[in-house]
Amino acid sequence: MQISNRIENILGKGSDGWGAFYKARRMIRDGIDVTELSIGEHDITTDPIILNAMDQAARAGHTGYAAIPGIHDLRAEVARRVTKNTGVKTNVGNVLITPGGQSALFAAHMASCNPGDTALFIDPYYVTYPGTIRAASAIPKSIKAKAENNFQPSAQDIAASAGNAKSLLINSPNNPTGVVYSRETLTDIAKISVDEDLWLISDEVYDTQIWEGSHLSPRSLAGMEERTLVVGSMSKSHAMTGSRIGWLIGPEAAISHLENLSTHTTYGVAGFIQQAALFALKLGDAFEASIAEPFRRRRDLAISIIEKSNVINLIPSRGAMYVMLDIRATGLSGDEFADRLLTQHHIALLPGEGFGDAAKGHVRVALTVDDARLETALQTLVDFAEANIK
Ligand code: PLP
Repeated sequence: MQISNRIENILGKGSDGWGAFYKARRMIRDGIDVTELSIGEHDITTDPIILNAMDQAARAGHTGYAAIPGIHDLRAEVARRVTKNTGVKTNVGNVLITPGGQSALFAAHMASCNPGDTALFIDPYYVTYPGTIRAASAIPKSIKAKAENNFQPSAQDIAASAGNAKSLLINSPNNPTGVVYSRETLTDIAKISVDEDLWLISDEVYDTQIWEGSHLSPRSLAGMEERTLVVGSMSKSHAMTGSRIGWLIGPEAAISHLENLSTHTTYGVAGFIQQAALFALKLGDAFEASIAEPFRRRRDLAISIIEKSNVINLIPSRGAMYVMLDIRATGLSGDEFADRLLTQHHIALLPGEGFGDAAKGHVRVALTVDDARLETALQTLVDFAEANIK
């Protein structure tokens, strides 16, 4: 039987960028002690107090079908959080609860693009972006944010592609680069979105991981509330990756249409997960800061080690659980560098090439092991780079 073109083409012609990760997993299965710096997964599991809330909710009967756009109290709590953090008055009707940010990314493209429409995204990008756009039957078109510009996208480059596009997907704080878009960059993006009548899809799943300055949601900029869809998630902010809980924020009309998409795809999120998410959100800012803290500390540690190297250049990392290293001075590609480091030193990181053309000659380090192990791995990486200049 023939598989539909839509499904067959989700990955497009390129790879899905996870080759190095799969190779590391195979080595671990074979009993090799690999230092795993490749995936954006905390080195802690979900906090027991959140698990207790989940358990209690399940035992109290929240095991049946739950309200599809999300239970009212959770939508209200998300709306309260967004209002407090961004200054934009947000109501229950602006919030759709989804099984993670990934599902919200798909919903946002389904809401904004017709089949065949062009959907823009910034390169380097989170690996699922082009496939998510294709899954929604839109055409992905990337815009390079250049290493020379510290991976801030340029207004001219976006404007040049915006004419026949329907949406623009951005991500700040950024995976894979750790870059936080400046107010100037976001203001330029907002202006282009208004001028070119684009939907702006703003992936803010790292909004609690900002190491310098503060988070700016472009939904709060002039003229943007009616055309911005914000992707949120508790995966990173609350170490709840496996619970699959996130949201999409947008204009009420879009959110109410998207309830139909949820009804016909996910059928919502388990009630006991939603109750646990409500409990977790009510733990407030201090809890979120405690989850982010190890990454702040390890980012400082990474800077202190890398800045001593004459070969590796650190992209100024101001947020998210990653640092991006420019290894072009070695003469190796990111793929070669990552593969050799894994084979020779059992350190797994992801080549920049997996995140798009703009990150060629770079590697991404996820700060997701304990400090001592990270320090040893980064020192080994620096020594390896210095010994492998072509
Ligand atoms: N967006 C970005 C930039 C990510 O890095 C991730 C996960 O790593 C996601 C979205 C999806 O997160 P989740 O579906 O776990 O909420």
